[in-house]
Amino acid sequence: MTKALILTVRDWWESQPEQPPVAKVFLTVGAFTCVEPAGLQFAFEVQTQGTFLDGAELVIEETPLIAFCHACQAEYRPEIGRQYGCPTCQAPMDDIRSGRELKIERVEYATTVASQL
Ligand SMILES: [Zn+2]
Repeated sequence: MTKALILTVRDWWESQPEQPPVAKVFLTVGAFTCVEPAGLQFAFEVQTQGTFLDGAELVIEETPLIAFCHACQAEYRPEIGRQYGCPTCQAPMDDIRSGRELKIERVEYATTVASQL
């Protein structure tokens, strides 16, 4: 998972006309992806050592699991591992609106400080 993420960033970075140092990688991780942010962060740190991403910070933004109940015409937040169905009418979760994302939002370059000579 982390490897795929790093490869994606690298492909993108290499396709850029200039390749300034990367300061931050912003990642959106849905609560329903089974990806554990802390574990991902650690793996990222370890696996980027010695690469162009060495020292870059992985910024993870978690999105909650949100489902839509067609019977109630309402969104609700299932409780992962406990209750997935609609809390109002108990209909099973069949329309997930958010929480399955796993994507690189953007990459921030290290800004070079203009020298004051
Ligand atoms: Zn419902």
